[in-house]
Amino acid sequence: MARYTGPVCRLCRREGEKLFLKGDRCHTPKCAIERRGDRGGPGARGFSRRRPTEYAIQLREKQKARRIYGVLERQFRRHYRMAGKQSGPRGERLLQLLELRADSVVYRMGFGLSRAHARQLIQHGHIELNSRKHDIPSAVLGVGDRVRLRQKSRNIDTVKNAMDRAEALGRPAWLSVDPESFEGTINAIPDRNQIDATLNEQLIVEFYSR
Ligand code: SF4
Repeated sequence: MARYTGPVCRLCRREGEKLFLKGDRCHTPKCAIERRGDRGGPGARGFSRRRPTEYAIQLREKQKARRIYGVLERQFRRHYRMAGKQSGPRGERLLQLLELRADSVVYRMGFGLSRAHARQLIQHGHIELNSRKHDIPSAVLGVGDRVRLRQKSRNIDTVKNAMDRAEALGRPAWLSVDPESFEGTINAIPDRNQIDATLNEQLIVEFYSR
């Protein structure tokens, strides 16, 4: 599956804010945005002296969402189309679909340090979905789905770190996880206020509606 393989901190600099793409490092002073202090520079959002156009603002919001969820344009459009087929506000449905992707769920359950790490766990066969091996990070899961870390994968250091961090910081209320059995269940579709991505989804809808 195609994915972005360049330097991820550059993506944060481009958007001018922390997108938390690197796991633990994002919470330390080693974070590139923290280190630079100015949150700017060539290539960074707002570096141009010109006032951004409406189109540019919408485009940046869409790009930010793609980067947070680690999704390339084609897949992002696929999620946008799927969101349009569901009832309710399209932007909110889009964010829900992104949150319910297998890689995002594994990350939210605390098995991975970041969505990229969670994606790697899935692709390398460390995850079971409803008691069967699952290796498709882009699959959209639903209420009642059970995600489990396979027995042989429970002693991986990065997984242990991720679980410790999730225990300390807490998990979203729409999920439940049993740390003993390394199994989690999706209990509900997340409400907009349970999705902590700092995104204005209406701008994304306006971008695609042009
Ligand atoms: Fe972004 Fe994390 Fe890199 Fe900081 S450390 S710039 S939040 S990816």
